[in-house]
Amino acid sequence: MALNFEQGIIMKNVLLTIMFVCSFDVYASAESNIKDPYLEGFKAYALELKNMQGDTTQSFLDYAAEAEKIENSVGYIGPELTLPLPTKVADGVYTVVGSLIWHNPSNYGLNNNLTFMEFEDGVFVFNAGPNTAVAYSFHQMIKRMTDKPVKWVAVENSQGHAYLGASYWTDIGVKNLYSHEVANQSFHTNFSEIKHSWSERVGKLMTLPSRDVTEKFTEFKDKLSVSTGAGESIEILNFGAGHTPGSTLVYVPSRNVLLTGDVAYNHRSLALFAYTDTKKWMETFERMIAYVPDDVIIIPGHGAPTTVQKIKEDTYDYLAFLRGAVADVIKAGGGEAEAMLIDQSHYKSRPVYAQTHQNNAVHIYKEMMDIDLGQSFE
Ligand SMILES: [Zn+2]
Repeated sequence: MALNFEQGIIMKNVLLTIMFVCSFDVYASAESNIKDPYLEGFKAYALELKNMQGDTTQSFLDYAAEAEKIENSVGYIGPELTLPLPTKVADGVYTVVGSLIWHNPSNYGLNNNLTFMEFEDGVFVFNAGPNTAVAYSFHQMIKRMTDKPVKWVAVENSQGHAYLGASYWTDIGVKNLYSHEVANQSFHTNFSEIKHSWSERVGKLMTLPSRDVTEKFTEFKDKLSVSTGAGESIEILNFGAGHTPGSTLVYVPSRNVLLTGDVAYNHRSLALFAYTDTKKWMETFERMIAYVPDDVIIIPGHGAPTTVQKIKEDTYDYLAFLRGAVADVIKAGGGEAEAMLIDQSHYKSRPVYAQTHQNNAVHIYKEMMDIDLGQSFE
């Protein structure tokens, strides 16, 4: 469950105070004739209070409502975060490679990749970010590199780091948002649990402003083409379930780039969640690589841009190895304990290996034995 009502009110007050303090940082360097509507609101409010007698409760509530309206119209109020520098992948294609460990306060929850691509008609963004603060900071980075407006946003799957920043993009006026139908419905259904989980792990203040804007997304099933100007177009694709039940990939033939989302990892150890289906994941992976040219540039869900060969080794081949090893354990009459002992040391240099490898073996054991995998709200 999310915060209860009373905690919510306390958090909101803390947040407003912090936003107030942070606003000085953001606007201190701005030109003096630019007025920050949020700070102007405080001045007007101070005057209003001066003329007021007796109970001021309603006026405080009105102010909170007013502040919330401002916050929603600009998407985010607060300092710009220091994100990793973008990597150039192809002409006009840049990706910010997120942290290779878990989402936590030190990486602001940015542990997947945020990509932007510049086209004639505007900028296409892949992944909304894990919260509005990261989304805003990514947007500032984009604005320093191009004058084109962000016109399209797509998200890789139903996870918090794909979606929780989406309300920032709708608040600043982005109208074209895309997600696979299963992912969009799943994020909508589990919104409060996902938001709660990310606020516990990354930070409550940073995650609190995120809202569920799934009703503003265009859902697709298998394929959607979007023309991006000057004869170019992008393909928004789904090749089936796997790491998550619904996922969105983006292929740009004119730039020879494929954004795989979590269908492919580079280097980082795979994380299997309750909703992960490893058999389907392998089939989905096969369909994906059959669709694109062998020399396509890969922007994976986790890890740096790379080649088809590398994601095959780190994703598909690992799944094939582990599924084979678990099948052998079962054939020999072993259980979960034996599955955990499978020698995976060949992969031990991969980030988060220690935290994932035994769980991965147990996950596959449960899949093969038809044991309930529970629920995850990542
Ligand atoms: Zn992910």
